[in-house]
Amino acid sequence: MIIILKNSATKDEIAKLEDGLKAAGLNTNLIVGAQQSIIGLIGDTSRIDLDGLYAQECVESVTRIQEPFKKSNRKMHPANTLITVGNCVIGDGSLNVIAGPCSVESEEQLFETARAVKSAGATMLRGGAFKPRTSPYAFQGLEKEGLRLLSAAKKETGLPIVTEIMAAADLDLFEDVDIIQVGARNMQNFDLLKVLGTINKPILLKRGLSATIEELLMSAEYIMSGGNNEVIFCERGIRTFETMTRNTMDVSAIPLLKQKSHLPVCVDPSHAAGIISLIEPLSLAAVVTGADALEIEVHCNPKKALSDGGQQLRPDNFEKVMEKIKTMCGFLNKDFGRQI
Ligand code: PEP
Ligand code: MN
Repeated sequence: MIIILKNSATKDEIAKLEDGLKAAGLNTNLIVGAQQSIIGLIGDTSRIDLDGLYAQECVESVTRIQEPFKKSNRKMHPANTLITVGNCVIGDGSLNVIAGPCSVESEEQLFETARAVKSAGATMLRGGAFKPRTSPYAFQGLEKEGLRLLSAAKKETGLPIVTEIMAAADLDLFEDVDIIQVGARNMQNFDLLKVLGTINKPILLKRGLSATIEELLMSAEYIMSGGNNEVIFCERGIRTFETMTRNTMDVSAIPLLKQKSHLPVCVDPSHAAGIISLIEPLSLAAVVTGADALEIEVHCNPKKALSDGGQQLRPDNFEKVMEKIKTMCGFLNKDFGRQI
């Protein structure tokens, strides 16, 4: 439920109203806007007396929200959530590009790729240290050593780093990580989400392989209900009957998430398609439909990659894709990689 306050509402009136609502067992979320202030109510509002609310001097109107997602709901927070990472801002209408290898494999591989993506204009560096592989016999990542190499690459390039966590028990190792990624396979690992709700770091929440948009929003809700409001959605393709692509990129999820939620939206065309030649058109589609960020896999030598070799761009190809992305941003009047 949302209470829209009158412009004339005083601090005292609002505080009194909030106290009454809290006494009724509800959590309140006061959002003070330049034009309008609102109070979002979280909890069982079914017994709230609407007439009683309207009788309050400071209340303009009351709206019930039917959707089960509250904190991530745009109705609760009409303005976009902006997430600052290093010198980048995600969600302010500009475009960020997170690029790097699927897995961190060695110092040489990571540094060569990191330098290349930086020079092509990437604003953040990705690389998996803990890898969720379908087979237990496949490369599982360098783990702690992978995180150490990412930190070293961050130091050299200045690029913020994005990497996946698989278990809450590893959280202490992620101190220097700028954005913690929750992979598609862990989107509904609720215990992990709850722990990530207690920290003060942005979370890149990837959509599960068969997850609906509402389930994705509810997973964000798990993180936000713990107090961490910095969640970035990531559309990375969903499993459908199609077999020619690795997954099917759900383009409609991009504007729909932007409409339903105030949180930023990232798109990962690499895992969505699994096909190098589709990365450019899918990236452009994501930019046109309102994505705040792209996450693209790039490897200095994809043929030798220890994971996802077939979908990782070579640096020269990445540079060409980036040129197209920048041109599209210019066409749309969208800032590319704006630094603060
Ligand atoms: C990844 O980004 O490295 C990854 C494993 O992606 P996803 O969880 O989307 O499959
Ligand atoms: Mn990958």
